[in-house]
Amino acid sequence: MIRFPCPRCGDHIEAPNLEAGTCRACPACGETIDVPDPAIRRAVARLDSAAFACRCFAWTYSGLLIAVSLVALNQGSPWAVPGLFFAVVTGFGFAMLARLFEFLVANSRG
Ligand SMILES: [Zn+2]
Repeated sequence: MIRFPCPRCGDHIEAPNLEAGTCRACPACGETIDVPDPAIRRAVARLDSAAFACRCFAWTYSGLLIAVSLVALNQGSPWAVPGLFFAVVTGFGFAMLARLFEFLVANSRG
């Protein structure tokens, strides 16, 4: 059984598992509602935490690499500029990945 509240009247609705992802009428107000799919909800929750992890990783990783590169720059190391470049590119990549996950999460919630 899937239990969920009606988005319109808040009445508690029960639907058999087989009806996950389908539409049915609310018995209280008659509104046509989507029966949530627990598997999809779990996948969305995972995607949501993946987006969060990517964002955290992008910030800490890039921040650390930029800090190290700035120290290297200060010491006149030839690796400073490539290091900075690498930090920005990979940080941007992970930030974009996080954005993609967030986009998918937002779209799956309709
Ligand atoms: Zn209702």
